Amino acid sequence: MAQEFAKSFYNSKDWKDCRASYIDKRIAIDGGMCETCHQELGKIVHHNKVWLTPENINNPNVTLNHDNLKYDCQTCHNQEKEGEEPEPPRYYFEGGRVVLIPPEE
Ligand SMILES: [Zn+2]
Repeated sequence: MAQEFAKSFYNSKDWKDCRASYIDKRIAIDGGMCETCHQELGKIVHHNKVWLTPENINNPNVTLNHDNLKYDCQTCHNQEKEGEEPEPPRYYFEGGRVVLIPPEE
């Protein structure tokens, strides 16, 4: 689901036009395949390099820039979303101090 601040943007005609023209562009390039796995048809256009924030939501160079968009299938999109949340830090106490355990590679 879109975050609250981005809801009106995702409902805007500007975004829907931008998204549709991006999909048309991808279809012209490779038939509209997922840009990540190139195995499945793309399904979701999302912001790839610069994610939307309350600060940039009104900046069309970010929100409506084809260079910042990516066309993914559902599977690849879900995987990217999972990678979005950083692992919560793990730690233990040693001699009264908090010692952070580095995330596993
Ligand atoms: Zn994919």
